Amino acid sequence: MPNIGKICTSCGKLTDNYAIFKCPDCGKIDIVRCDQCRLDHVKYVCVECKFEGP
Ligand SMILES: [Zn+2]
Ligand SMILES: [Zn+2]
Repeated sequence: MPNIGKICTSCGKLTDNYAIFKCPDCGKIDIVRCDQCRLDHVKYVCVECKFEGP
């Protein structure tokens, strides 16, 4: 399976080194977080419910 990467929810950059998980609040949206944002503890906002994490 080719790895085409994902767009990071936090910084909007294309990344192939990321974590993906469902929004912990609404569970509808896939949150993608690149390694850099994870290390820097950059916030993400769910587009569905506006939940702010981590
Ligand atoms: Zn990022
Ligand atoms: Zn949500």
